[in-house]
Amino acid sequence: MMKKVQLGKSDVEVFPIALGTNAVGGHNLYNNLDEEQGKEVVRTALKNGVTLLDTAFIYGPERSEELVGEAVKEFSRDEYKIATKGAHYFDENNEEHISNNPQFLKEQVENSLRRLQLDYIDLYYIHFPDNDTPKDQAVAALKELKDQGKIKAIGVSNFSLEQLKEANKDGYVDVVQMEYNLLNRGNEHIFNYTSENDITFIPYFPLVSGLLAGKYNKSSRFDDLRADNPAFQGDKFKENLEKVDKLRDIADNHDVEVAHIVLAFYLTRPSLDVVIPGAKKSDQVVENLKTLDIKLTDSEIEKINQIFPIYAE
Ligand code: NAP
Repeated sequence: MMKKVQLGKSDVEVFPIALGTNAVGGHNLYNNLDEEQGKEVVRTALKNGVTLLDTAFIYGPERSEELVGEAVKEFSRDEYKIATKGAHYFDENNEEHISNNPQFLKEQVENSLRRLQLDYIDLYYIHFPDNDTPKDQAVAALKELKDQGKIKAIGVSNFSLEQLKEANKDGYVDVVQMEYNLLNRGNEHIFNYTSENDITFIPYFPLVSGLLAGKYNKSSRFDDLRADNPAFQGDKFKENLEKVDKLRDIADNHDVEVAHIVLAFYLTRPSLDVVIPGAKKSDQVVENLKTLDIKLTDSEIEKINQIFPIYAE
């Protein structure tokens, strides 16, 4: 029987290895995405025990939610949990904006339900903070939807610790999703608050677009969102490759790939109970499930901490 974890204080239980679906229909993020392949990735994940799928309005935009909704149709509703996010909108000039206005968020949930073809969403996140809405009022709108059964758990993403505290004034936040990976551990300062307040911390960008999966070398070249990421440029890129290489011994000891050691390390962190690696290929999803069989020793954890210090410059 596979172990499941609860999202915050909600009744939603999920398998700890989830699937990030920004490469399922996320045409605004990646070039040349094959939609059928994306749906196949989702189906493979569910068939192999993954339960939580992480999407958002802005992936596509809209298309990721639509494709995820189509892909889950052949499964019964208790076999999968859907997390989605909203906050973005486009004005008449097609410029992107962020809003946490309570009424706007309620409309966004309705729109997501329609695109996903669902009666309820298991976890709804405010994707990004805006500058003016009090965060507890934004969350109160989601709490109303939770009371109506339209969403089952409440999340916030890309919030500072202060914004998270404001959002959680009434104790309604179940999940916080933040960038967190071995190359960027700054958000560890949130772990105390999430642990003490029964909030699940879900790290996004866990493999740094595959960089932490040990799949690149000095001659790798990029033409998508990786091209704009400083971690993939010049000396920094070489330095990162060298650090990742140092994980190979640990991976060999466990007979797995570097990616799985990285994900297993995350799951040793307080309140971090779920990971959402993205995948463009079905075999990556199946492979990533190996993570749960890995029991890192204290000395391996220590070694990883030394290679990737919390406050790297
Ligand atoms: P990621 O998980 O760090 O990287 C995903 C990439 O890693 C995959 O596309 C694949 O690269 C590679 N990969 C995955 N498993 C692998 C394996 N076993 N071996 C080798 N390579 C492997 O980054 P991400 O997809 O950007 O982030 C994960 C999820 O977080 C997203 O899907 C999204 O749901 C969420 N997210 C949320 C926010 C937010 O603001 N809340 C922001 C960004 C992302 P290839 O495609 O090259 O094979």
